[in-house]
Amino acid sequence: MSTVGVIGAGQMGNGIAHVAALAGHDVVLADIDKERADAALVVMRGNMDRQVHRGLIGEADRDAALARIRTTGDLADMADADIVIEAATEKEEVKAGIFRTLCPHLKPAALIATNTSSISITRLAATTDRPEHFIGMHFMNPVPIMKLVELIRGIATSEETYREARAFVEGLGKEVVEAEDFPAFIVNRILMPMVNEAIYTLYEGVGSVEAIDKAMRLGANHPMGPLQLADFIGLDTCLSIMQVLYEGLSDSKYRPCPLLVKYVEAGWLGRKTGRGFYDYRGEAPVPTR
Ligand code: NAD
Repeated sequence: MSTVGVIGAGQMGNGIAHVAALAGHDVVLADIDKERADAALVVMRGNMDRQVHRGLIGEADRDAALARIRTTGDLADMADADIVIEAATEKEEVKAGIFRTLCPHLKPAALIATNTSSISITRLAATTDRPEHFIGMHFMNPVPIMKLVELIRGIATSEETYREARAFVEGLGKEVVEAEDFPAFIVNRILMPMVNEAIYTLYEGVGSVEAIDKAMRLGANHPMGPLQLADFIGLDTCLSIMQVLYEGLSDSKYRPCPLLVKYVEAGWLGRKTGRGFYDYRGEAPVPTR
């Protein structure tokens, strides 16, 4: 895999491009327009600067990695890619639209991976011209720090695709866990109902934002409270995952909390928009309820 395409330059696409470039791959980073991809490159530079300050990488590594990244707003620029990793918004119609535009530009042997947190790999694969070369590759946030990648085969994913994808992920220094193609796979099947339950706990007035987060940090030894975590993931992504679980498993225990829906309707999506269960616009985060 010498050239890696990444589609979607948000928090995840940014992190995937970051680790791929540091691992020595040429990277083409695409978003809806080039300006958004360029903005991601600025964030990436800041993140790599922090790694330099901590002594994790050298200045030369940073400069070489940044020089390997090309930004674009045009999926035709994915023509050289050996693998394209889609990391756009967690909406099935958005991803399907991207694959429709992307496929005619790709080399016949190129792999397509999706970083979806929850959507059926088999269904997404079916929107492409190469279901056998398609795989779920679920990175964790923040990508440069988190060790795990879930690999998910769709019904048509070939053994060769799985092997190549696994070798690629391990080459990034990550650990692999295999998950079956069920809604939200392993990590989010377990994590997201906990986050949703924390939001119900707030909704029902059992505890305040601070009490719920402190309770889980100190009482369950979680590094981050569940509401902090929800803000970190993005509340739109949390809601989409709960909807996929609710609809995909037809079980009322996955019903998204109405308060989560309300925050998303307000555009309060967490850290990425400056406000969620906490307001991040001042010096320190302040609970919004
Ligand atoms: P984000 O909102 O930070 O970024 C999404 C990006 O996709 C935005 O920059 C947006 O402009 C871009 N985009 C939307 N439509 C596009 C299109 N048609 N073409 C190109 N780019 C387009 O979201 P994120 O948190 O980076 O999540 C991206 C994906 O990664 C989702 O599938 C999500 O489920 C998954 N994921 C998220 C996390 C997390 O913790 N946030 C963890 C693992 C996986």
